[in-house]
Order: sequence, then C-alpha cells, then structure tokens
Amino acid sequence: MMDPQRTDPREDARAADLARRFTEVYGRAPDGVWRAPGRVNLLGEHTDYNDGFVLPFALDRAAMVAVRLRRTGEPGQDTVELASTYAPDGKGLSCERFSLPGLAAGDVGGWGAYPAGVVHVLDGTGEAAVPGFEMLLDSTVPVGAGLSSSHAVEVATIVALNDLLDLGLEPTAMARLTQRAENEFVGAPTGIMDQSASLMGRADGALFLDCRTLESRVVPLPLAEHGLIVLVIDTKVSHSHADGGYAARRASCERGASALGAVSLRDVPSGADLTVLDEETGRRVRHVLTENARVLEAVERLGSGDLHGVGELLSASHASLRDDYEVSCPELDLAVEAAMGAGALGARMTGGGFGGAAIALVPTAEEGRVRDAVQRGFADSGLWAPEIFSVLPSTGARRM
Ligand code: ADP
Ligand code: MG
Repeated sequence: MMDPQRTDPREDARAADLARRFTEVYGRAPDGVWRAPGRVNLLGEHTDYNDGFVLPFALDRAAMVAVRLRRTGEPGQDTVELASTYAPDGKGLSCERFSLPGLAAGDVGGWGAYPAGVVHVLDGTGEAAVPGFEMLLDSTVPVGAGLSSSHAVEVATIVALNDLLDLGLEPTAMARLTQRAENEFVGAPTGIMDQSASLMGRADGALFLDCRTLESRVVPLPLAEHGLIVLVIDTKVSHSHADGGYAARRASCERGASALGAVSLRDVPSGADLTVLDEETGRRVRHVLTENARVLEAVERLGSGDLHGVGELLSASHASLRDDYEVSCPELDLAVEAAMGAGALGARMTGGGFGGAAIALVPTAEEGRVRDAVQRGFADSGLWAPEIFSVLPSTGARRM
C-alpha cells in the first residue's frame, strides 16, 4: 500500500493557487486550506439506510476550501461570505452570503445551503459558536454525477471549522453532523456513507463501513498493482424519479423489516423465508440481504488480494438493483452491458439510481476497448455521449 499520508504535488499546487486566489477575492490571506474528496461506492447500494454494509472509496477528485475566520471586532462578524469557482457561466465566481444570528433551514438557497447546514448543526447542537468567516471553494468533483460533490463541500467545511475552532471532533462525529446538516438543513434524506468515505478514505483502500455502528475498516484496493482501473461512466441522465423512488424503496424496506419482526433489514438473516412478504416487498428485501452478503464477500476477497474476484460481485449487484430493487434505467443498463461486452471484469450502477453513473472494474489493457464500446453503445442507441473517466482511491479529508 502507498503511504496513506502521501501528498500529491498537484494538489499542493492547487492549494497554493487557491490561497492566492482567496487573497485576491477577500483582500486578506486565508487561515488555511482544506481538502475533502468525493466518493464512489464500489459495492453496497441501498444498504446504508437499512443499517447495513457499504464499501465506498474516496476519490482523487476533491473539493478544496480556503477559509479565514473573522476576528472579533472586525466588520461582518455575523456574516459568512462564500465564493465558488464553479459558476453557471463557466467563468467568474458563484457567490453566496448569509448572516449567522437566527440561521434556520430555508434561509439559505443555492450551494450556500451546504456550508450553512454545517454551521447550523455546529451552532444548533452547542458544539461550537461559529463566528463569521470567508470561504473560497474550488472542486474537481463533477457536480451531479453521483460522486457526492455536495458532501465534499460539507465535509470540507466541517474539517476546516473543526481545525480553526479547535473542536476536536472525531471523523465519525463529523460524519453524523454533516448527515444532520444534509437531512435537517438542506432537506435531503441521505445516509451516512458519503461523508464517512470522504472523511475516512485512504489511498489504495476502500472503506468497509457498518452503517449501524459506524465502525469502519480500510480494505486494501491496490488497483494499479493488479493492472486494474475503475472507470466511472456518467450517463448524464438526471435522477428525475429519484425522490419518489427513493422514498418508496425506504418504505418497502421498513415494511419488510417489520413484517419479518426485525428492527431493520440488517437483522434479517440472509436465508430468511421471504414468502411471507408480498411479491414486490420480497424482491426489495432480497436485494438488501444479498447486497449485504456481497459486501462481506468482497471484503473477504480484497483481504486475500483477489481484486479480480470482486468483478462478478459488482455485476451481481447490478442485476439485483435492476431486477429486484428496480432502481436502474436503460442508460445505466446499456453502460454496464457495453462495458462487460468489451472486457470489464464487472460493472454496475452506483449511487441511488434512476440515472447518474455506473462503474466498471477494467483491466488496464482493456480501457480503450471499454471506453469505445460504451460510447458506441450510446451512439448506436441515438443517445448523447456519456462522460467516462478513471478514478483512484485517495486519502480522506485533511488540511493541506
Ligand atoms: P452530487 O451527486 O454531485 O452530490 P447533488 O445534486 O447532491 O449532486 O449536489 C450538487 C450540488 O452541490 C450543486 O447543485 C451545488 O449546490 C453543490 N456543489 C457541489 N460542488 C460545488 C461547487 N464546486 N461549487 C458550488 N456548489 C457546489
Ligand atoms: Mg449529493
């Protein structure tokens, strides 16, 4: 395994650039620069809200924030000023601002809701009195591709405030707080996986996370050593049915668990008799039980260095998500089938589904073939060109 603390010279250069840019924008140097990666989920989909197992990894694409706390007596002590290099017109900055006293959900729109949510949970839980601050954000996590660009923003914010205010929060505490920020302030009913991966990821490792206890363990994923890459195929299909579909799946799981006399599906053994459930609920439950088992199997295989063996688990996961859980879509199925036909060892949709991205585990030598096959598949179906790029497991959030 590579040194988990190893720093990437390109990221150091990015951090220095960001600090310079901050000084131009705000007229003073930042107190520091922090980095929080996006994530991709290798395996364990729709298991997080069932107290189950997930296996994400932190990406070599990250949000970086330069932050400066406002000092007592300075003008704007009650105000947070935010700027992002991600602007709708592709140039300039996208700016947001909000004032701290009485900050409540719904007060802050746009992307400012993510940092504001973090401020709100820190203040609201009595964790910290947060003073005004200035932030400049620059992220290499693609927005809306299912790689959790939003959590990267939240996590970058909380690690920066944790350091600057000397809060001494552990990664698991920060994961819980950012989850609350997202649930209570932004209003998205998301689980705990994304923040955890961003906070606790390691270079050349995946994070095996128990979503019930938040216990986690890094599992080796030395892709390059095994001649493998992970390709992300962003179908660019927006998750238009995601909200209703997600809520319906959660409700099915709760119904299934209670009909089986369990607190959550985590407590249902994988061989349980599902014939007591109606047909649809039975399939939903079967996905969750088999997916948890696949994560455990993948952890075993990775532990013994069998990276190739994880491929078939990815493909089995996709079939289960498509047929039992019914959260795939034709474009995701097409991406998976084309990748498999061109030599991928395994492929599956990743993220909540109904659009977004697929991943494929691919021998490095087959990368070109897989890329071509997926592009051709989309073109032959009269579809737009998907975005395809490779990702590597990288270190979790930290100060630069
Ligand atoms: P994702 O799957 O990428 O997390 P979301 O829809 O959950 O997709 O989050 C995307 C949102 O996160 C954007 O609409 C924006 O509000 C915020 N966001 C992410 N990255 C940036 C950035 N670099 N600058 C400003 N806002 C960002
Ligand atoms: Mg998101």
